[in-house]
Amino acid sequence: MNSVNSTPAQSSGVVIVTGGSRGIGHAISSLLAREGHAVAINYAANAAPAEELARTITASGGRALAIRADVSKPEEIHALFERAAELGPLAGLVNNAGITGTKVRIDEQTAETLDTLFNINVRATMLAAGEAVRRMSTRHGGKGGVIVNLSSVAARLGGLPGLVPYAATKAAVETFTRGLANEVAHEGIRVNAVAPGLTATDMVSPETAKLAETVVPMGRVGHVDEIAQAVAFLLSPASSYMTGSVMTVSGGR
Ligand code: NAP
Repeated sequence: MNSVNSTPAQSSGVVIVTGGSRGIGHAISSLLAREGHAVAINYAANAAPAEELARTITASGGRALAIRADVSKPEEIHALFERAAELGPLAGLVNNAGITGTKVRIDEQTAETLDTLFNINVRATMLAAGEAVRRMSTRHGGKGGVIVNLSSVAARLGGLPGLVPYAATKAAVETFTRGLANEVAHEGIRVNAVAPGLTATDMVSPETAKLAETVVPMGRVGHVDEIAQAVAFLLSPASSYMTGSVMTVSGGR
C-alpha cells in the first residue's frame, strides 16, 4: 500500500474542531485528544467549557488549545488556522460548528436570518476547507490530511417544520463534501461527512428529543459520543479508502 490518504501525520498533527465548546464538537474534541491528536477547540461565545476541556486534555498529557473565532467571519477563520499552527502542522479539520437558524416557516424567514444561517453552516465550511487544503494538500507542499463535515439526516428528509432552510444548508454541505473529495483526492486529502440524526445537545429541545421515541426506529436520541466515534473513524487510517462518503448515525432514521 502506498501512502494513500491515511496520513501518518494524523496522530502527531493538529486537528481543528470548529464549535468544540459544546455538544457534538465537545465530544469529538475530547475523543480525538484521547486518541492522541493535538486538538484546536474552536468556540464562538462560550469560552469556559472550551478552555476547561483544553486544560483537562493538557493535564492528562495531551495537547490542546481553546481558540475563539466566529466562523461567520472569514478573517476569524483564517486567524483560527494561524493560531492552531502553534500545536503543529495541520492533519485534520472537523467542520462541526452549526446553527439551526430561526425556526419559522419560509414565509416568515428574512434575508438576514438566512444569511447568518448560510454563512455559518455553508460558507464557513467551505472557507475553512479552503484554509485546510492550503495547508494539507501535497500540491502546496503539505502531507495530506482529512476533512470531516457535519451534515444531518435533515439533508435528505427536508427538515422538521420551521427548519427547512437548515436542512437545505446540510444538503449543500453533503454536495460540497462529495465535490471537494473529488477535487483533492490526488492531493492526499480525504473528505467525508457524518450525518447525525436527533442527538441530545442544546440544539435539540426537550419536545424535539421526545419526538425520537416515535420517529427514530431505535426509539431514542443519539448520544454525542456516538456521533464522535464516527468522526474519529473517518479521521483515522481505518477509513483510508473512504472519501466523498456520508456516514449516517441516526438510530435508523
Ligand atoms: P450545539 O450543541 O448547539 O453546539 C454548537 C457549537 O457550534 C458550539 O460549540 C458553538 O459555540 C458553535 N458555534 C455556533 N456558531 C458558531 C460560530 N459562528 N463560530 C464558531 N462556533 C460556533 O450543536 P450540536 O448539536 O453539537 O451540533 C453540532 C453539529 O452537528 C452542527 O453542525 C449541527 O448542525 C449538526 N447536527 C446536530 C444534530 C443534533 O441533533 N444535535 C443533528 C444533526 C446534525 P459556542 O458554544 O461558543 O456558542
